[in-house]
Amino acid sequence: MPFARVVLYASTFAALGVPVAAYLGHGLAPLATLAAILVYSAYVTCGVVFSSWGMFADVVTHGPRNATGVALTFDDGPDPATTLPLLDWLDEHHIVATFFVIGHKVERYPEVVREIHRRGHDLGVHSYAHSRSMSFHPPGSVRRDLKRAMAAMQSITEQRPRFFRAPIGHISPAMARVLRELDLIAVGWSARGYDGLASATAQTVAHRIGRGLRDGAIVLMHDASERGDFTPVCIEALALVHEAARRRNLSYVPLSGWLETETLDSL
Ligand SMILES: [Zn+2]
Repeated sequence: MPFARVVLYASTFAALGVPVAAYLGHGLAPLATLAAILVYSAYVTCGVVFSSWGMFADVVTHGPRNATGVALTFDDGPDPATTLPLLDWLDEHHIVATFFVIGHKVERYPEVVREIHRRGHDLGVHSYAHSRSMSFHPPGSVRRDLKRAMAAMQSITEQRPRFFRAPIGHISPAMARVLRELDLIAVGWSARGYDGLASATAQTVAHRIGRGLRDGAIVLMHDASERGDFTPVCIEALALVHEAARRRNLSYVPLSGWLETETLDSL
């Protein structure tokens, strides 16, 4: 069990003991009670924001032990203007990757999703609406969103998506519950270059990713911008990342490549 979840259970248990202690005449001073509530709330919030801690859901952030290769993952597509050139680039370099697609874009550009699937890449769910506040949504709303995205994908690929990446990476207890219900594996990352920002340059993106480029790495990049309002430097950065991977003798795997061989490690 992830350490963060052990601490959550222990602190929740301790918090439940406070009213009991008060009843027995050993209550905390009001100021100490307030401080304890604040610390507990801050800790829970960190668990949502830093989902790779695994406080609420097991999140895959790297390949299995002794994994070889790097899993390139692309978020926020599909977009024909940027995803199709990326697919051509990946074909040219014989690289198979994983695309975490946004449901409403899947409905808008089904032909691009068909092309991703046809070329042998994996597809994962990146929600339907890509709401940045999804971690505040109740379970019913999260369930509707994810089911809608999954249905859109499944109608094209005829395959049930298995992987999920949370919008902006936040995972709440409600989201964790729905992921379990829908049997989705939450996927994080071990290296990212912030290429989803309009201000990013290929060099800075490749430099940041390069720090974590090793066997078993899950690399987060973007084949489209979240709102489709700029072209991410993905391909330019990817050329530099690929060069670094070649120098380090690293190959590439789609996420399913790791799942088929053994169970992915979770943090
Ligand atoms: Zn995203």
